[in-house]
This record gives sequence, C-alpha cells and structure tokens, in this order.
Amino acid sequence: MELLKKRILEEGEVIEPNILKVDRFLNHQIDVALYVEIGKELANRFKDKKIDKILTVEASGIALACFCSNALNQQPVVYAKKDDSKIISENTYSHPVHSFTKNKTSNIRVDKKFFSEDENILIIDDFLANGQASLGLASIVNQAKANVVGIGIVVEKGFQQGRSLLEKEGYKVESLAIIDHFENGKVIFR
Ligand code: 5GP
Repeated sequence: MELLKKRILEEGEVIEPNILKVDRFLNHQIDVALYVEIGKELANRFKDKKIDKILTVEASGIALACFCSNALNQQPVVYAKKDDSKIISENTYSHPVHSFTKNKTSNIRVDKKFFSEDENILIIDDFLANGQASLGLASIVNQAKANVVGIGIVVEKGFQQGRSLLEKEGYKVESLAIIDHFENGKVIFR
C-alpha cells in the first residue's frame, strides 16, 4: 500500500534495533483519513472470503479492525483483553502472549459468548513481528472451534519469524507494508 509506505518513510522512527515507532499516524495519534484507506485495503485483501466476525487485540488493533469491518459488511469486531478486569467473565478463551515491545507476557482473553462453532473469523493486528499476538488470537478462534479466515496485518517486519510461523499453521497472511530491514535508522521495504 503505497500511501502507507510513504507515511512510514516520512514519519516513522526506527527506535532500538528492531522497533518502528509510528505513533504520529498509526498507534498513538490516529490519522483517520489514512485509517479509512487502510480499512479499505485490508477489506480488499479478504473480500472473497465469508467473514462473520473480526478479532483483534487491544489497544492498537481495535480502530483498525473497525475500519476494516466498515469497509466489509460491518461485521462485529471483538477485541481480546489483556488485563485482568473484574468486568470480564470467568468464562473466557485465553492464551498467553509475550509482547515484543513490552517484553512482558499477558493472558489475552475473549468471553466465550462472542464466538460460536464454525463461525469464520478474520484476525487483524497493527504489526507482525514474531507472530505471538496473531498465534494467540488464532488459538482463541481454535478453542471456540471457529475458523481462521486469514490474518490481516498493517506493518509486517519481514525479517522476523511471524509470517513463517503463521504460514506453517496454514493461515493466509496479508500485510499492507512489508519491511525487509532497517539500515542506518531507515526503513527498507521488501
Ligand atoms: P508479535 O506478537 O508478532 O511478536 O508482535 C506484534 C505485536 O507487538 C503487535 O501487536 C504490536 O503491538 C507490537 N509490535 C511488534 N513490533 C512492533 C514495532 O516494531 N513497532 C510497534 N509500534 N509495535 C510493534
């Protein structure tokens, strides 16, 4: 997606050896016009699939999943929660996910009432690095005996192992921008 790549080149910052900060437009301050286009492009990548619901994880995935849903058929968006809120029921599907950026593990959880057997679920997330968030979300779908239609990612770091782990499990992965590597603090796309 050329518009997204342009914004990453202009406004993204490479911090630490392997982390791209895109908080000027993607995951702190949100550029709504760009989100509209991202939603359309994610929807376009999965337009031939039957999708009943979209699953993501808080917090950055939520708005992206909503714009994608709006560009599809306004399917319900469910987001996995990371904290141990008293509001969420005990009746959950859960999976431990190690966060690449926070270097901490959280048990992501979704209330069982939101998924039925054989529903078709599209997974959406902002970044794909080592694939732990996407694998955790896919595990939740599998626990519900629902189907993973595919995994839509906004920015993939192609030099990390996420895609190969997900494809090994048989999941279709679509990313709007794939980073090949970082070179002297600059992003080089594949
Ligand atoms: P994974 O689970 O694939 O290792 O990492 C994906 C998750 O970690 C995403 O949900 C995203 O929040 C975060 N993440 C991983 N790498 C980056 C990065 O380079 N920049 C930002 N902003 N988030 C990242």
